[in-house]
Amino acid sequence: MSNSSSNGEGNGLRTIIIGAGMAGLLAGIKLKERGENDFTIYEKNDGVGGTWKENTYPGLACDVPAHAYTYSFAYNPEWSSFLAPGPEIREYFEDMVERYGLENHIRFNSEIDTCEWRGGQWHIRTKDGHEDVGQVLVAATGVLHHPNFPKIEGLDDFAGPSFHSARWDHSVQLDGKRIGVIGTGSTGVQIVGALAGRASKLIQFQRTAQYIMSRPGVAYTEEDKRAFREDPSKIEMIRDNPRSAEFRNLFLEAILKPESTALDDLEAMLIQNLEESVKDPVLLEKLRPNYRAACKRLIFSNNYYEAVQHPDVEIETGAIERIEPEGVRLKDGTLVELDVLVLATGFKADQFVRPMTITGEGGMDLEELWSQTPRAYYAVTVPNFPNMVLLNGPSGPVGNFSLIDVAEAQWNYFDQLIEPVRKGECLGIAPTMEALDAYDVRRKEAAAKTVWASGCKSWYIGDDGLPQVWSWSMDHFWDVMSKPKFDDYELFEAIAAE
Ligand code: NAP
Repeated sequence: MSNSSSNGEGNGLRTIIIGAGMAGLLAGIKLKERGENDFTIYEKNDGVGGTWKENTYPGLACDVPAHAYTYSFAYNPEWSSFLAPGPEIREYFEDMVERYGLENHIRFNSEIDTCEWRGGQWHIRTKDGHEDVGQVLVAATGVLHHPNFPKIEGLDDFAGPSFHSARWDHSVQLDGKRIGVIGTGSTGVQIVGALAGRASKLIQFQRTAQYIMSRPGVAYTEEDKRAFREDPSKIEMIRDNPRSAEFRNLFLEAILKPESTALDDLEAMLIQNLEESVKDPVLLEKLRPNYRAACKRLIFSNNYYEAVQHPDVEIETGAIERIEPEGVRLKDGTLVELDVLVLATGFKADQFVRPMTITGEGGMDLEELWSQTPRAYYAVTVPNFPNMVLLNGPSGPVGNFSLIDVAEAQWNYFDQLIEPVRKGECLGIAPTMEALDAYDVRRKEAAAKTVWASGCKSWYIGDDGLPQVWSWSMDHFWDVMSKPKFDDYELFEAIAAE
């Protein structure tokens, strides 16, 4: 049992943070800013960065502008380009650990197994048997980290190397090989963009064509970086770029009001990009989506259309029958022979804190509450799970937004919410079930009207067929997150029996 379970330095509360990715580090930094040092970040991996540590595939980059995908309090004038490559983002988070003195707060290779609210405190246990106790639980486990292995017959029969995009095997030689990539999401698009010209044959198996938005990834010169260093307002100009804001507004209107002309305008812009970029009419028709734009997460790329026109690249639209030792057998009987098979088939987006067992007040199991679908009041808190916050949790804004901005707003909300506990006015605080139910009704009504619900297949859609993501404007999100509505919360005063 950790002996650091009592309130520690700063007279704050002891906080247990799950995950040393972007959101978990943010929580640690924010606690330190308050002078609170009594916290531990538990990380299952041997390093920080979350998704930016787990994903190492060729072409990995963030399609949100680098200066916008940065903590608002820690600008980084050194970004090498408008869109940062994945390894640089991982390094940014490693720098944050050093800059904010988080090293001694992180426990690596420590996967939490159980969290139990008992006696007014959170008791946690890791897979290797370590135990700890705190008053506050921050679940910063990320959204897209459980690889989705497709249900394709014979997946294990492939004779050559085969791996999921988030488990890239760097020991595998790619140059001159016949490489198959299953999937055309943001990941598959980035991988194909990077591998075109390296493989002797690169075949991308496309079940659904994608809308691609052009976003040039201009490199920053030393002069640019100096200017960013000397004048942070130049960074702010990128973060608050009116042209980006204009596009964001069009994009949000297209999502929230698919009947509006905004969606037609967006679609026209994307089809123009396709038609101006792809010369071969057969390939062009293969790449033409047959559903509404923005129904799936919009993909930004400056090299994909160029890559698919490379002589060694092929888009295979034939349906997959099964995987065989030599390659991929299509439903029409064709065998596509391969040396390497990459599964860019996405993630199980409904997992969040799973597979941990989390037990709240009165022994309530989170699994029970989430038996239909993962739920959280305004995406952050859960009834009967006092003093627990989910950063980037279920029904929050995801997709084409900076998740850093989202997590910062959520932390700001929770920081205010936990104040009565900090002041000793109660032991715990959690939303009422009525508040969550009412929120869910409103959320489902709004979700059903979005373009995400217009009939395409995407990871936004939950088991009930509705988008499980924030379905209102971002202004509404910032507004709700600016101040908790305490009337929707209940306070836990008494210490429950052990
Ligand atoms: P994804 O968007 O879920 O795409 C998965 C792909 O695999 C889809 O093309 C899907 O086809 C295909 N697929 C799945 N099962 C299949 C099967 N049985 N047979 C054939 N095809 C199958 O996953 P992702 O590309 O990894 O991206 C997930 C999310 O990660 C993104 O939406 C984004 O939020 C995030 N991401 C962000 C960046 C960034 O730059 N910011 C980069 C990469 C990823 P269907 O479309 O037909 O379902």
